[in-house]
Amino acid sequence: MTAKIIDGKAIAQEVRAEWKVRADALKARGITPGLAVIIVGEDPASKVYVGNKVKACAELGLHSEHIALPADTPEAVLLAQIAALNANPAIHGILVQLPVPKHIDSAKVLEAIAPNKDVDGFHPMNVGALVTGNTRFPPCTPYGAMKLLEKSGVTIEGKHAVVVGRSNIVGKPMALMLLQQNATVTICTSRTVDLARHTRDADILVVATGKARMITGDMIKPGAAVIDVGINRLPDGKLCGDVDFDSAKEVAGWITPVPGGVGPMTITMLVANTVQAAERAGK
Ligand code: NDP
Repeated sequence: MTAKIIDGKAIAQEVRAEWKVRADALKARGITPGLAVIIVGEDPASKVYVGNKVKACAELGLHSEHIALPADTPEAVLLAQIAALNANPAIHGILVQLPVPKHIDSAKVLEAIAPNKDVDGFHPMNVGALVTGNTRFPPCTPYGAMKLLEKSGVTIEGKHAVVVGRSNIVGKPMALMLLQQNATVTICTSRTVDLARHTRDADILVVATGKARMITGDMIKPGAAVIDVGINRLPDGKLCGDVDFDSAKEVAGWITPVPGGVGPMTITMLVANTVQAAERAGK
């Protein structure tokens, strides 16, 4: 079997076009959705992510503000900046690029963002809403992974979904979203005994570990849908996922490549959450 390759770039374009229609409808009513992205410090990878987020907003005609603060910014100054954005009616979504420097308490920062502007979905209130099935802002990366499954025609209800990884930004919310769609969900971690026994039973396998090519073809059920969230830089500078694409694609029914799979979806769903926040604010 050779898997269908899930083209994240093409699906991201399709989803962006759908949200542009909604953004344009708001603009016709005089509301321009606005996103503020705050970055503290000079982390090169974070700077690239922030640049891409601002670019995606421009592409859809959204207003965006890019606030770059020095690495030694006191926590109180960052919190005051967030409070000002919470009160700014031109801003519907606020995102603080993580990680923040060590002297800043990231939990405090995430809690300072107004829940109705928390487009990353990391505020405890929005996490709680996700857990209870009343999702307000689905965290962008798992939201993007769910969209890839939906747009590829993968059935979720009644299937066994295995999520490898339990981070707050990917693994846990992904498992909850699959559960919400009536999958039977297993979560595996670094402490799981005999990981392959679980992954081989997955109709849908989502991998988010940050361990390059750790899932090989022999760990995959024939015909499974494989979503590879991992982004790893190899010594030769190339990117690869947490799944060994070459062996996995011979077994899986669907598979996402890295790059070009989940990656393009994350920013797309951030834009979607920002438009949604503006729609709610404009009601
Ligand atoms: P974390 O490091 O926060 O979490 C990794 C998870 O994987 C942990 O729960 C860990 O288990 C588990 N894990 C690690 N090794 C193994 C193993 N051998 N077997 C089973 N489970 C294991 O990572 P993130 O969730 O933040 O990110 C995961 C990957 O996704 C990274 O490559 C990251 O770059 C990528 N990513 C991609 C995004 C995108 O836009 N495409 C966005 C966000 C992340 P334990 O809890 O027991 O330690």
